[in-house]
Amino acid sequence: MKLYPTIGLETHAELMTESKLFCSCSAKFGGEENEHCCIGCSGFPGAIPSLNKKALELIVRAGFALDCKISRFTKWERKNYFYPDLPAAYQVSQMERPVCVGGGLEIEAGGETKTIRLNRIHLEEDAGKLNHVGGKSLADYNRTGVPLIEIVTEPDFHSAEEVVAYVEKLRQILQYGDICDGKMEQGSLRCDVNISLAPFGSEKLGTRTEIKNLNSIKAIGRAIAAEIERQTDLLENGEAIIQQTLRFDDATGEIIPMRTKEDAHDYRYFPDPDIPPVVLSEEEIERFRQALPELPGIRLKRYVNDFKLAEKDAVIILNDKRVSDFYDAAVAVHNNPKTLANFIVVELLRRVNLGEADMGALPFSPADFADLQRSVDEGKLNRDVRKDVLREMLESGKSPGQICDEGDLWLKEDSGAVEAVINKVLEANPKAVEQYRNGEVKVFGFLMGQASKELKGSAAPATVKNILESKLKGE
Ligand code: ADP
Ligand code: MG
Ligand code: ZN
Repeated sequence: MKLYPTIGLETHAELMTESKLFCSCSAKFGGEENEHCCIGCSGFPGAIPSLNKKALELIVRAGFALDCKISRFTKWERKNYFYPDLPAAYQVSQMERPVCVGGGLEIEAGGETKTIRLNRIHLEEDAGKLNHVGGKSLADYNRTGVPLIEIVTEPDFHSAEEVVAYVEKLRQILQYGDICDGKMEQGSLRCDVNISLAPFGSEKLGTRTEIKNLNSIKAIGRAIAAEIERQTDLLENGEAIIQQTLRFDDATGEIIPMRTKEDAHDYRYFPDPDIPPVVLSEEEIERFRQALPELPGIRLKRYVNDFKLAEKDAVIILNDKRVSDFYDAAVAVHNNPKTLANFIVVELLRRVNLGEADMGALPFSPADFADLQRSVDEGKLNRDVRKDVLREMLESGKSPGQICDEGDLWLKEDSGAVEAVINKVLEANPKAVEQYRNGEVKVFGFLMGQASKELKGSAAPATVKNILESKLKGE
């Protein structure tokens, strides 16, 4: 019996707001334990919540970016459960009337394009964090109440590869939309993966399990593969799948049961009496739509159609929003999108990949980077020299102009200046000159090397060769 996997995803994305969802505490990542807390987000009874309007704007933005229907009327429920990371013993969430309904995301996987349908996106509060130290668990409520959107798909995936393609694309859209920073390692984007197996061709889905809180793309791929294997083994041995919540151990690659799965009624959802429903006006929704930043798909079209970049290069630049923003800023200074794209893909990203440059902390501005490329494009600097200047910019943070002045790197336009340098080289190497004139022509390469070293690329190699040859021949 051939078994076929079906997967549905719930993605939690922390919104990029300054403050929490229902109080004015900072929503920033990190800080001293319990530094960003007040009576509201610490669950003291009697604190009056007040909705963060920015969070509402950002979820509507996510809705537009993912083709959802935006509900004008939206409301909140309390989801009740006890766990030490939840001081109020309930989470404010949305069950009946989420802000976004439906929608979809087109992905490419296994050489095919398909649309993953979304069920809904709702707004809720994040829980706190438990730090397990020396056999004790310490609660940190800095994250409690940070606004979160939960993006729920229909069970439309049938392989780990499709899920990975979806998460990568979703993450990019959220980042470009300034909705969520997408930092999975900091937990600001996490996925719950629901998996079931059924006989190939069967209409009915099998019993599902849910792996909670996967926080890297790699872990998502590995966890899905491990869970498909575990369920396959059980089913092939005639055993039943228990609907339960699981955890993936990144270190061992093992799937570990957490608890049997609750159903919605176990949470005793009820309307939050302190948070009035919201009615969004058409004007407000339209204003939110207008504020949606340029999304990666649109930026790709701009790069390919307007900038005439090869799609492959455009995709590489778009892959990291910081690179793409840097590129756009450089093009604004020096309007040569093609040479700047080449410089980024061939040189800057190579340094980044080697760990010699950090896109989050470059010691130079896009304008400096653009200036360097402009010097090359205007014929003032040899193209081969740009990588050396870039390396020095990374090391010293100096401007390209200063580096070229100090290093005498500008392309020497008059041959007199090149000649002067070659004369110096010939004077410094009388023995080699002698050898050449006695017919040992292979020393030419050595002299050429010395001259190039001295000129540091500030003259075209053909010019150097011509002048050197005529000098040696005593012309
Ligand atoms: P809950 O809120 O209890 O986790 P939902 O019904 O909202 O449950 O579903 C959560 C996710 O699980 C959705 O992405 C949905 O597509 C997916 N899902 C539901 N049933 C199955 C199934 N049999 N196999 C795989 N995924 C499923
Ligand atoms: Mg769930
Ligand atoms: Zn607070």
